[in-house]
Parts: sequence; structure tokens; C-alpha cells
Amino acid sequence: MGKAKTMTAWTNALSALLIIAFAGDALAQGPAARDLFGSKSLPSQAAPAAFGFYNKGCLAGGVAIPTDGPTWQAMRLSRNRRWGHPDMIALLDRLSREAAAQDGWPGLLIGDISQPRGGPMLSGHASHQIGLDADIWLTPMPDRRLSYREREDISARTVLREGTLQVDPSVWTPAHARVIMRAASYREVQRIFVHPGIKQKLCDSWQGDRSHLGKVRPYWGHHYHFHIRMRCPDGSPGCTPQAPIGRGTGCDESLAWWFTDEPWAQPDDPPPAPTKPRLTQLSELPNACAIVLDSDAVSEEAATYPASSAANAYQAVDVPVPTPRPR
Ligand SMILES: [Zn+2]
Repeated sequence: MGKAKTMTAWTNALSALLIIAFAGDALAQGPAARDLFGSKSLPSQAAPAAFGFYNKGCLAGGVAIPTDGPTWQAMRLSRNRRWGHPDMIALLDRLSREAAAQDGWPGLLIGDISQPRGGPMLSGHASHQIGLDADIWLTPMPDRRLSYREREDISARTVLREGTLQVDPSVWTPAHARVIMRAASYREVQRIFVHPGIKQKLCDSWQGDRSHLGKVRPYWGHHYHFHIRMRCPDGSPGCTPQAPIGRGTGCDESLAWWFTDEPWAQPDDPPPAPTKPRLTQLSELPNACAIVLDSDAVSEEAATYPASSAANAYQAVDVPVPTPRPR
């Protein structure tokens, strides 16, 4: 009996130790920041501000672009990534209207912007974390309203000729060039990411003002959509600026490099055995992001552009009536 009692005490002590060890491990790991931010369906009640860097930060006072505007439709609504800094939402509104009026680009199909409070995402991008990045499809908006289902299912079309690094002349149009170059012309836009084949096409054919061509940066992917990145806006001292792009059009040897084997080479060695990737912890983001996460939520109606007071300054003459969810 004495022995049994000792055994029980020993087992209890051992389990207690195991529990402590396990809890300690869980504590060290913590919940991944992407789970915390991915679980927030509404923005924080706060003045709009971006915190941190494009690939490590968060967004306070986010605003949603309405699912439908006169010159845009938001895609992949189930992802709930049509949130951004109000300056970004206003910029997309402006781009969509000006491109429709002047570029022969009937409207924008808007892909991912950010989550309601920004932050790392459960899937997809490394950037898009501070409400200042937006993906615009390289497919013009159709002249009808897409259903919720279509917005989930329709695929964007590549502008490349199959198996090449060049744009397909049967898909690419001068309007593609105009909408990209218009976005690049905006002062608030610092970079536009496109596939090198698109950059090459612009270098070869753009007849307009070439002073903004340097903002258009070649990058992997980005032949189904182009990616607009804004500078840190006023009123966001916690936003970490990206290095300036420097002078020149970028139609040089830096572009030629993309047409060598190097950027596309497959590693010779077999990839190492998959290890569990270390996920970004909340503690690695700016301190303000913990506050953003904890703040009270704003209702979707109140936070949908242009209903948000923060966005009222940008209210255009022909603002659409917001329709938060398609029927
Ligand atoms: Zn993107």
C-alpha cells in the first residue's frame, strides 16, 4: 500500500512536470500572429494608421472597399481581404474611375488588399499586412455584375504567352499598359510589381511619360494581377518606409537579368526534408499591433468606404451606394 501510494505520488509529480514542460513550450510558441489576425472579421475602432513594414505589421482603423462600385468589383469575397488604409481605398476608387474614363479600362477587378486589421495571413502573401498593398487583376471588369459564386470561381487570365516570359499579343492590350502606368503616376504609389515580361513590354512600347516607369518593378508571379504598393501615408509615424526606388526607368541590365536562367533556376540539390515553418509571433510585430488586435471592432457598415468618416475627405462626386454583401 505504501509502495502504491509512493508510485501515485511519483506519477502525479511526473505528470505535473510534463504539463509544465508542455505549457512552457506552448507559451514559448504562442499562437501564431496569422491565427490572431485571421480570426478578426472587423477592423479596430481607431484612427487609421499603418504599423510596421509591408511584410511585418498591422493596420488600425481599416476601411473596406464596397464589394461593388461603378468602376470596380471586389473578388474572392470569402477571404475578407478588401480592407485597407483609407488612403488605399480612396486611391483604388480614383484609379478605377480615371482608368474607366481615360484609359479604356472599364473597371478594376480588385483582389486581395488586407485583412480587417492587417497582419500576417493564413494563406498567400507575405506582404499586404499594413493596408497599403493591393492586387488588381489583369483582366478588365466585365460589363455585368458578377455573382458571389463567380467572384470565388473565375480565374484571372495570364497575360503571358504559354511557356514564355513574354506577354501574349493576343491578350495584352494598350489599355493594360495605360492602367498600370496611371497607377504608377500617382504620387502616393511607390512601387508596382509586375512580371518581368510586362515590364519588358512597357519598356519597349510605352510612348507616354516615362518618368514613372522606374516604379514598375519586375518580380516573380504577377502576370495574372499587378500589385500596387503605396508609400507610408501621413499620420502613420509607426509605418516603416521602404527604401526609395532610385532614378531611371529600370529598362536596363537589372531587367535583362530576369531573362537569364538565374532567377528561374531550380536548385540542383533535392530540397531538405520539410520542417515546420516557424510562424511569426505577435511579439515580433510592432507593439501597437497587440493594441490593434485587442481594440473594439467597428461595424462593417460604419467601416465601409465612403461611410467611414476617415474616408469622407476623399468622397467623390459619383460615390456608389455601398453594398456590403452581394445577394
Ligand atoms: Zn500582391
